[in-house]
Amino acid sequence: MPEIMTDQIHRLPGWRAADKIPPYLLGKNNYRSTPTIPDSYTNDSKIDLEQTLTGVPFYRHWKVYDRGPSFSLEDRMSELPVLTKRDLRANVPNGFVHEKYKCKDGFASGEIEMESTSGTAEDRVTVVWCQKWWDKSEQAAARLNTALNTIFQSPHREAVLTTPLCSGNICHVSEATIGERTIGNLLFLNQTLDPTAWDNRNIRRMTEELNIFQPDIIEADPAYLAILSRACLIAGYPLYQPKCIVLTYEFPSHMHYRQIHRAFPGIPVVSSYGSTETGHVFTQCETGSFHQNVVTCHVDIQHFNEEFGNPGVGRILISTLGNPWFVLLRYDVGDLASVSSIDRCPCGRSEGLRIDGIEGRFRDITFDTKGRIVTVKHLDDALESIEALLQYKVVQTGPQHFSMYYEAEPGTEHRLADVLPEILHIVYGKNAVIEISRNSGLVPEQSGKFRLAYTTWPLRGEAIFK
Ligand SMILES: [Zn+2]
Repeated sequence: MPEIMTDQIHRLPGWRAADKIPPYLLGKNNYRSTPTIPDSYTNDSKIDLEQTLTGVPFYRHWKVYDRGPSFSLEDRMSELPVLTKRDLRANVPNGFVHEKYKCKDGFASGEIEMESTSGTAEDRVTVVWCQKWWDKSEQAAARLNTALNTIFQSPHREAVLTTPLCSGNICHVSEATIGERTIGNLLFLNQTLDPTAWDNRNIRRMTEELNIFQPDIIEADPAYLAILSRACLIAGYPLYQPKCIVLTYEFPSHMHYRQIHRAFPGIPVVSSYGSTETGHVFTQCETGSFHQNVVTCHVDIQHFNEEFGNPGVGRILISTLGNPWFVLLRYDVGDLASVSSIDRCPCGRSEGLRIDGIEGRFRDITFDTKGRIVTVKHLDDALESIEALLQYKVVQTGPQHFSMYYEAEPGTEHRLADVLPEILHIVYGKNAVIEISRNSGLVPEQSGKFRLAYTTWPLRGEAIFK
């Protein structure tokens, strides 16, 4: 297959300007950019708490919680409140812009713009977007994995496989040519809201486009890439093998990794964690740990109260560094992580916080019958040995009542009907009441993400975290 260069793709029929593409995706286009965050705001690698508490309007009322410079940064940070999505919605943009900077100047110069995240109304926020800062964040995060870092040293192409919903608006749904979905070095593969509805025509189109585009990286929502991988293996369609696969957008389950490794044998698979609000926060290194991107963020982990179990696990609170246009302090992005118990990572990187893994979203926790928290990762690890599992969802309807819906390889009904309740009893307790239903209709939420577990009652974070 002859190699098609990016400039040739620009000339493919149907090419149009990238006016509908959100900046958080366009940001990946710019590997050579030289970020020019103003010199007057250079607090990289450490938080200048004084500057934030006095110079950023929203945080001035937090000053009363500050223990002062005679205490360590860790102690001072732990006494501060948590910044919520509700705070963001109520105070964007001016509340989070450093007083030395004026939004109207930033908008006028094109340095910043307003951007909405996708997701449910409860999840959605609007942020002040600074493309230069995002580029800096992405480049720094790539350095935390050797395979990614090598690719980022030179021009490269990325194919993106996730929901076609961008910024809360539909931008790649329905028919669009490969040219219309190619922006610079990025190809957006998916055109369908629900990947479980992909038909043979969709699968063939995506495999053919991968062969034409020949990406160095496939950046994917793990659930979407797992569905594509399995469909190609069953249909016998050869899949183009990139240099690296980056999983992001949602929690990567063992059932996703299984399908992806079968379809891409020997290709490095890297998990990357971040968000539109916070930039790139953690990158998985080649030995499997997750390293914090110390260039553009500071991370605190707020642990669960003792009665909820899971020592070492807590919610991820992110403070952004070096971006005067959108200063976040202890922002609760809604996800959980487990702090690493090993002193040193075999990869040799030692800067910043290291975590063993992302534990899933807080809103997706469930509880065992003794009231201890079961994170998505805990549940998923328990189900790892069930190789036939393709999709699942555990819904907790009461302190002792659980319904599991699952989809599995054909011919495995009888075996799984026995083994799944056994596993769930180990996870949730012997006295758990468990109903298991085989179900072929497990579809993503409106945001395009699949939900692996949840309770039917609302959760109150203030009662759970220390
Ligand atoms: Zn490492």
